[in-house]
Amino acid sequence: MLNPIDGRVESAGSREREMESWRSVFDASPAGVCIAAPGGTILYANPALHDLLGYPAQGLRGLAMGLLAPGTGGEAGQGEGVGRPGERPLLHRDGGVVWLSEAVSPLPARGEVLTLRILTDVSGYRRTAAEQRDQFRIKEVLFETLPVPVFIKNGDGLFIDCNPAFERYTGLTRDAIVRKSSLAVMGPDLASPHVERDRALAADWDLHSYEEEVPFGDGSTRRTSITKAAFADESGRLAGIVGVINDLSEGIPTEARLQTILEQSPIGVSVSRRSDGRILFANTRFAELIGLPRERIVGSLARDYYRDADQRGRVVERLKAGGSVVNMEVEFQRADGSPFWALFTVNQAVVLGTPVNLAWIYDYTERRSMEETLRDMASRDPLTGIHNRRAFMDLARQQVLRAQRLDKPVSVFVLDLDHFKSINDTHGHVAGDEALRMVAGCCQLLLRGYDLLGRMGGEEFVVLLPGAPAEVALRVAERVRQQLERTPVLGPEGPFQLTASIGVACMQGPEDTLDRVIHRADQALYRAKNGGRNRVAADGPALAEPVRPL
Ligand code: GH3
Ligand code: MG
Ligand code: MG
Repeated sequence: MLNPIDGRVESAGSREREMESWRSVFDASPAGVCIAAPGGTILYANPALHDLLGYPAQGLRGLAMGLLAPGTGGEAGQGEGVGRPGERPLLHRDGGVVWLSEAVSPLPARGEVLTLRILTDVSGYRRTAAEQRDQFRIKEVLFETLPVPVFIKNGDGLFIDCNPAFERYTGLTRDAIVRKSSLAVMGPDLASPHVERDRALAADWDLHSYEEEVPFGDGSTRRTSITKAAFADESGRLAGIVGVINDLSEGIPTEARLQTILEQSPIGVSVSRRSDGRILFANTRFAELIGLPRERIVGSLARDYYRDADQRGRVVERLKAGGSVVNMEVEFQRADGSPFWALFTVNQAVVLGTPVNLAWIYDYTERRSMEETLRDMASRDPLTGIHNRRAFMDLARQQVLRAQRLDKPVSVFVLDLDHFKSINDTHGHVAGDEALRMVAGCCQLLLRGYDLLGRMGGEEFVVLLPGAPAEVALRVAERVRQQLERTPVLGPEGPFQLTASIGVACMQGPEDTLDRVIHRADQALYRAKNGGRNRVAADGPALAEPVRPL
């Protein structure tokens, strides 16, 4: 069991706790119950069995089961063949013999397989109907609640029952299993070693443990240790086989394996107390992610590691509603305040009686930044690095709405390079590309931080100037035009010059739209081209005249 207080896994005392849980289940049973270690040493016997065999409280614990069999301790044999199938004589402490009906089941616990015996006094066939019912009920409860996959087959090798843990393990429902053979459930390849084992078991009636592959719920197969025991019917013939699965890979982790899994996990794991949110356990990866030693994390509040109170609120809400959180994208912060994105999964659990949240944190930063890069790629023009048409339009629309809400002016200018086709023809496409980069660079240099620059396609650029009335936009456009005229571009045969024409337009009241204002700027640009190129023209009657070079 994981000790959530200091994160270490306990081994001493865990058998004691196991004993406690057996006590709570079997102490009140009217039938005798005994649990023995693989070597046969009695680990637990309930009060009813002590009574049956005449021992004082706890007197059976530590004894070898074999010592209770008549004949082994020097007593006269009592004719063991006399009993009915499933019945056996055991030595009473006073030297006599008690006849008991015995049901034996393997009981995997903490990496070993114990033996569970339920023994009912049948001396003089004094079994009452009530006792039988109790015995049945104990087995039923045990079968249904055991966290270990268990199945039962009949003498013909058909599954007749399985417990919920077996259903979970195989991913099959009880209905899909019962009345089917191993062959039908697993297919010939996987089934054949199991069928052979069943045959061997039917021949020698021994307890068989072997390792073999069995299908797992996700469609894979897993190496498991399977323990099988035969049981008889009224007439002493083989009635069937009880089998128990002990997953060697991970199904029932031993404490050491659990510890290793948690410690080596690339996923951060923390356990926090649900009542006050204090972290009781954190693994190494969790400590790495947060950037604090584990001692400092244990005892701190889980809430301190969230970056966004709203995100935390959503997690808490879901947990309060009794649900879990699965692979939610959450931003956390390290001890130094720096953020990281993680996939976050939280389950509610009860560990050693304390309700806790079991959290798994998978650092997501790298994947997230890759996504950001991709998003960026989708919104940027690869040649110049400025916004592409779509991104420009999206951002510009938001700015236009904002300006309209605040009743502020917004202007736009559209810039098109002059005779660019002949620049490409004269200096080559590579030099043409270089010229386009130079234009983007010049614009960025002259624009303010909150102006928006985009490449609309080809050699046409667009600029949105929030807060700028037409006169300001005209001045900025003119400055850009002059800067371009002055900036040489390096071609294969040395530097060359280029010019651009620019059309300017301004938003006209709350009914105007971005598309319309760009259209008007385009019309002004057309006039600038017609007016002789290398000039700025404005939309509107007041600004209809091309702006003279300064
Ligand atoms: P005008 O002064 O009337 O605008 O003449 P223009 O030659 O600039 O006009 P036109 O639209 O006819 O030509 C645009 C040219 O821009 C055509 C194409 O070769 C060139 N062009 C478009 N995109 C790119 C690009 O990404 N790289 C390069 N090098 N050239 C491009
Ligand atoms: Mg052009
Ligand atoms: Mg053009």
